[in-house]
Amino acid sequence: MDLSKLSEILKSEPKYRQQQVSQAVFIDLVTDWDEVKTLPQKLRTVLKNSCPLEIKAKIFHSQDQKTSKALITLNDGNKIETVLMRHEGDRHTVCVSSQVGCPLACTFCATGRLGLKRNLNADEIVEQVLLWNRVLKQIGEKERVTNVVYMGMGEPFLNYTNVLKSIRWLNDKQGFNIGARKISVSTSGIVPKIKKFAEEKMQVNLALSLHAPTDELRSSLMPINTHFPLQEVMSAIDYYIKKTNRKVMCEYLMIDGVNDSLEQAKQLAKLLKDKLVMVNLIAYNPTNAYRPAKAKNIKAFKDYLSQAGLEVSQRFTFGQDIKAACGQLALDN
Ligand code: SAH
Ligand code: SF4
Repeated sequence: MDLSKLSEILKSEPKYRQQQVSQAVFIDLVTDWDEVKTLPQKLRTVLKNSCPLEIKAKIFHSQDQKTSKALITLNDGNKIETVLMRHEGDRHTVCVSSQVGCPLACTFCATGRLGLKRNLNADEIVEQVLLWNRVLKQIGEKERVTNVVYMGMGEPFLNYTNVLKSIRWLNDKQGFNIGARKISVSTSGIVPKIKKFAEEKMQVNLALSLHAPTDELRSSLMPINTHFPLQEVMSAIDYYIKKTNRKVMCEYLMIDGVNDSLEQAKQLAKLLKDKLVMVNLIAYNPTNAYRPAKAKNIKAFKDYLSQAGLEVSQRFTFGQDIKAACGQLALDN
């Protein structure tokens, strides 16, 4: 798909064409310009040649059919992954990538091993949601993506402008109309961008990949912590909370023998004391680096945090069998 020439082409057309095109591409989900009978034949031919709607994707489904992963080949041949999770009820969450690869090399993350190839542009981020809407429409005429999380490949705040542009686009009432509160951005802790995000006056959710309660441990797992140490990250989070009054989700991977001890639970409780946050404990999905924490240790860790007065939840993993779970996105299909 390539919509980069679209606005240029529509410039010489009456204003209402933009509306017709948005309706066709983002609401009716057409895959061929010939289907758009509201447009004159000549314009359809121009669009057919200059703005192809085809998305090149290979789709995999997990055994339980709840998770699907798509491997999209971009126009320049680079590949990215995006995941659809179908929850009970009619909630459908899409996990989008924001970069091809990621430069931050967290030791537990498969994407981090790829290094950074390039940033995605806003179209390429939105295209991922569009693809899943097309898939959902085939399942049920009215089924659509309801939630979007920026937790796929890449660090969203290292591609800030395009990520923000894509959020506004997903949010657009004339397009996907996905409410800001249904959109979450996860960051490894890019301090200046957390502060900037606080100023955006958006109702989008922020998640912080915390994973360790001390600088020493966090730096050994997440090299970015040497640039932006915990104290700076936490004060950026304080600033965000003060500005937005929105609760921040702190993601904490549970890795056996690395960050799952009661002593570490205690340090974490101290770090997060009295902050408007919740802790989301995430099962470590194997990437050949560590072992997942034992269930009894996760329970003890969780109980300690609850007793210390923190709000804690546990994330269920989706799609491990098709390597679609968090941190497993690495294009080895
Ligand atoms: N770069 C951003 C967003 C993408 S990663 C970030 O790091 O926040 C999305 C989430 O998946 C993060 O919380 C990340 O820490 C987590 N993750 C990475 N590797 C994982 C693994 N092997 N198992 C489970 N979660 C993982
Ligand atoms: Fe990049 Fe996030 Fe993976 Fe770290 S966890 S390497 S920041 S994608």
